[in-house]
Amino acid sequence: MQDVKYTRPASIQEAIRLLQEGGPTARILAGGTDIIVMARERRRDTSVFVDIKAIPETMGINFDAASGLTLGAATPLYQIYRNETVARIYPCLVDSASLIGGTAIQGRATFGGNLANAGPAADSIPSLIVMECVANIVGPNGQRQVKAEDFCTAPGRNLLEAGEFIVSLHFPTPAANSGARFLRFIPRNEMDIAVVNSATNLTLDGNTVTAARISIGAVAPKPLFVLEAGAALIGKPLTDETIAAAANAARDAATPIDDMRGSIRQRKHLAYVLTERTIRDAARRARGEAAQEH
Ligand SMILES: Cc1cc2nc3c(=O)[nH]c(=O)nc-3n(C[C@H](O)[C@H](O)[C@H](O)COP(=O)(O)OP(=O)(O)OC[C@H]3O[C@@H](n4cnc5c(N)ncnc54)[C@H](O)[C@@H]3O)c2cc1C
Repeated sequence: MQDVKYTRPASIQEAIRLLQEGGPTARILAGGTDIIVMARERRRDTSVFVDIKAIPETMGINFDAASGLTLGAATPLYQIYRNETVARIYPCLVDSASLIGGTAIQGRATFGGNLANAGPAADSIPSLIVMECVANIVGPNGQRQVKAEDFCTAPGRNLLEAGEFIVSLHFPTPAANSGARFLRFIPRNEMDIAVVNSATNLTLDGNTVTAARISIGAVAPKPLFVLEAGAALIGKPLTDETIAAAANAARDAATPIDDMRGSIRQRKHLAYVLTERTIRDAARRARGEAAQEH
């Protein structure tokens, strides 16, 4: 482990000052489940941790039907999936939060850290993308908002500038008759990195799809927002044919690598299968039914 100074600012302004003073080796610490491992293994030069959990704006869950859901960026995952409002209105976020790591990891890990870490296989990012998440970012030049789909730039890279961090994540209230689902494939039941993951959020008018957002992960340098897959559904009846067209679009958008977890062929196939399943489950939820266990 490197010799690292620990700081715990109580305000946004103090955190920005500490990040600026610390320069490029000052690191935000949220749950620490990624950054402490990386600092210990010297994969990230780290001189100072800026622990943001004492900043009130980074913690907590607030929902209001008019404005939507705001999650403090450092809110631990277990608080998200145990929250009744989130479970009822945003079950797709619970799908992600409840399968990242295991119980111990979920006690510390955060959506803000998962997003900022920008892993291609990150298990929250497809859900954040399809639920129209906007990251509220603060820094030396004030505040700005960035859509989840625009946030990651490359493996482990995001568009945060020096001194910036995510304070909170905002989600609009889902439309009536909408439903969303996240699924991933891993070779064992838990504690593994996704071979492929997928999320779908769609809105139905009868059996016609009026809105659809589809995202897949672990098949490209960053999680993908596949516009073509959503377009294959929008304005059309939800049938085996339109679902297959959307799943095909997801498979076509995937540009995976071969590695020890899966081959290109398997990953492209999984992009199809998981997208098909998340569409069917999202439609079930849109109709007020339960999603299937897979
Ligand atoms: C055993 C184990 C199992 C895991 N399983 C999974 C899994 O199944 N799926 C999965 O996706 N991940 C998994 N992970 C990775 C990790 O737990 C998640 O990525 C987690 O969501 C990271 O959140 P954190 O709060 O712990 O991030 P941290 O480690 O605190 O931070 C991660 C990175 O983001 C930066 N950061 C954190 N918060 C902010 C912020 N608000 N603004 C700006 N930058 C910030 C940090 O500086 C750091 O670079 C696992 C990790 C372990 C150790």
